[in-house]
Amino acid sequence: MQVRILGSAAGGRFPQWNCGCGNCAGIRNKKFPGKARTQAQLALSAEGSTWFLAGASPDLASQIESCANLHPRTLRNIPRDSPIAGVVLAGCDLDHILGLLLLRELQPLRVYAAPSILQILREENSMFAMLNRVEPQVVWTAMNSGLSFPLLAADGTRSGLSCEVHFLSGRYPHYVKSDRGKLAADQATAALFFESGSRKRVAYIPAIGDLTDTLIKKMERVDMLLFDGTFWSDDELQRVQGSGETAHQMGHIPVEESLRLLKNINIKVGRKMFVHINNTNPILNETSAEHRAVRQAGWEVAEDNWQLEL
Ligand SMILES: [Zn+2]
Repeated sequence: MQVRILGSAAGGRFPQWNCGCGNCAGIRNKKFPGKARTQAQLALSAEGSTWFLAGASPDLASQIESCANLHPRTLRNIPRDSPIAGVVLAGCDLDHILGLLLLRELQPLRVYAAPSILQILREENSMFAMLNRVEPQVVWTAMNSGLSFPLLAADGTRSGLSCEVHFLSGRYPHYVKSDRGKLAADQATAALFFESGSRKRVAYIPAIGDLTDTLIKKMERVDMLLFDGTFWSDDELQRVQGSGETAHQMGHIPVEESLRLLKNINIKVGRKMFVHINNTNPILNETSAEHRAVRQAGWEVAEDNWQLEL
């Protein structure tokens, strides 16, 4: 399986346009011991020619250009065939779905998402109808928790990858107007487990507020774990902004807590990295004590354009 980290930052990217925190100011001044990052985005392929995206970030157009594997091909003399066959959504936060609107150029694709998220995108937000202007275009597919399903291209052909989704409790974004009673309480966010025919497994969990034993057991069986690295500490935003919500209130376990909670999976998982990193997070600074603590615990801090082979 091939995995490409197209983007590794949380919503707002790094630096964030309206943020002058120490990290953002430092990277603008080119005096920061760390790297700029675009918003979290993953691409996966079993054999290198058919690709699936995990999420669809607002930076997707430039992220596709940055990766030759995702550039369009010519099919039957028409230069409009993308190797991107589909998108699997772990949630419906804007930084995870806005990129879908950038994929509206009549390309047949399959979009996989939880039933409640399909309802929000298709019934509540008319803009997404741009993905169904012609036939064939986007095929929307509901995914259910705990069941493994093959990832298919829009025309129904198998890609060699399968996915198992584990719904997490979480909250729906503020833009959602639907009657909350009609949305499943556990479908706001999901952990995605991708598997190739050679039984290599990748877990992608960019947002998680609560760890259960069931989920930890599932994570123990993966070859690569990409885990919520949004904030280092619970009160990080409050300290930078002077007010605001805690990491937990925003549905994220802080990294310093995850390092303790996941201490025992260290020996079982092949490679572990934090992804979806907010611009305020001190682990972005490669000389910081927090970055060192992550590395010493056997974890990595994901960077844009990492190409990983399993
Ligand atoms: Zn900042």
